[in-house]
Amino acid sequence: MKITAIRAYQVDLPLHEGSYKWSGGKSVNVFDSTVVEIETDEGVTGWGEVCPLGPFYLPAYANGVRAGIIELGPHLIGYDPREIGVLNARMDAALQGHNYVKSGIDMACWDILGKATNQPVCTLLGGRSGDEITLYRAISQESPVDMASKVAEYRAQGYRRFQLKVGGDPDVDIQRIFAVAERLEAGDRLVADANTGWVLHEAMRVARAVKDVDVYIEQPCRTYEECLTVRRHTDRPFVLDENIDSLEMLMRAQRDLAMDVVNIKISKLGGITKARQVRDLCVSLGIGLTIEDSWGGDIVTAAISHLAHSTPEESRFTSTDFNSYVTVSIADGAPQRVNGKMRASSEPGLGITPKMDVLGKPVLEVR
Ligand code: MG
Repeated sequence: MKITAIRAYQVDLPLHEGSYKWSGGKSVNVFDSTVVEIETDEGVTGWGEVCPLGPFYLPAYANGVRAGIIELGPHLIGYDPREIGVLNARMDAALQGHNYVKSGIDMACWDILGKATNQPVCTLLGGRSGDEITLYRAISQESPVDMASKVAEYRAQGYRRFQLKVGGDPDVDIQRIFAVAERLEAGDRLVADANTGWVLHEAMRVARAVKDVDVYIEQPCRTYEECLTVRRHTDRPFVLDENIDSLEMLMRAQRDLAMDVVNIKISKLGGITKARQVRDLCVSLGIGLTIEDSWGGDIVTAAISHLAHSTPEESRFTSTDFNSYVTVSIADGAPQRVNGKMRASSEPGLGITPKMDVLGKPVLEVR
């Protein structure tokens, strides 16, 4: 089997809530997503998706996905997409870094491997663990009162895990955490995700102020060293996200006992293959996992579901159903949230069928 063409489609993904806001005044109203199609000479086609959280979250931006595919694509034509290790080595040899560019291609190759072997991707990634994947709901950054009022709404949708977007004014963030914590019920879990937004003295104040609140603290500061300092001064459970962008960083953080939970975003690490490598190490090392991506629609959500569902249940902390945040559906067969949970498809590959009328014409083609 050989790759004969790589195409990309651009889709706008508006939000049901109008906007998504997080640390430092960052916000997005419409996500710019790229859907990747890999065509083969045997009639099997694979699909992937990459959707950065705007251009100011990680070193990734929507047009960069497309530019990167134009750069990488010619190096992959003629290669067997089922040989995913070989293909990843080829991508790394052709383009240094730019993990997010490679993510959609890698995802599409897993879709092809599943279709070619008649297996769902979660089987190929180790096998399904448990019946369902527990989801969290991100609470966009608003006033403490408005964020607290969201808890009942999201709980009514079945969510029992809430991720507060903090990383703003530390005094207001302390109020946000207390206001939301008051609304929690037994069994709920609360994460305060600062998304690198606090400088060290601010993070230290917040961690101290919420020391008696049952809350996880996620990625308080920009640098790893700052986060490690906060970690060593709080006994709240601790999540690292933005800093864990490679296997090397995971190994370093594990040696330092720098976190209890790692947030794995598929595109941050460069695709399902590399995310799986980090996932498997975390499982072996006893580190909890949030398994998700930066953002996305139905195809990213499907990929998350396969990686999450094939992760041992006891290692899973939570995941995200991004396709329920956005107003546009780009594929049939993607997981749908039921009572705050989702499951990976049992169909071959990712189990999705793109809606070509929504994707429109490709914005680029490499052949
Ligand atoms: Mg995070």
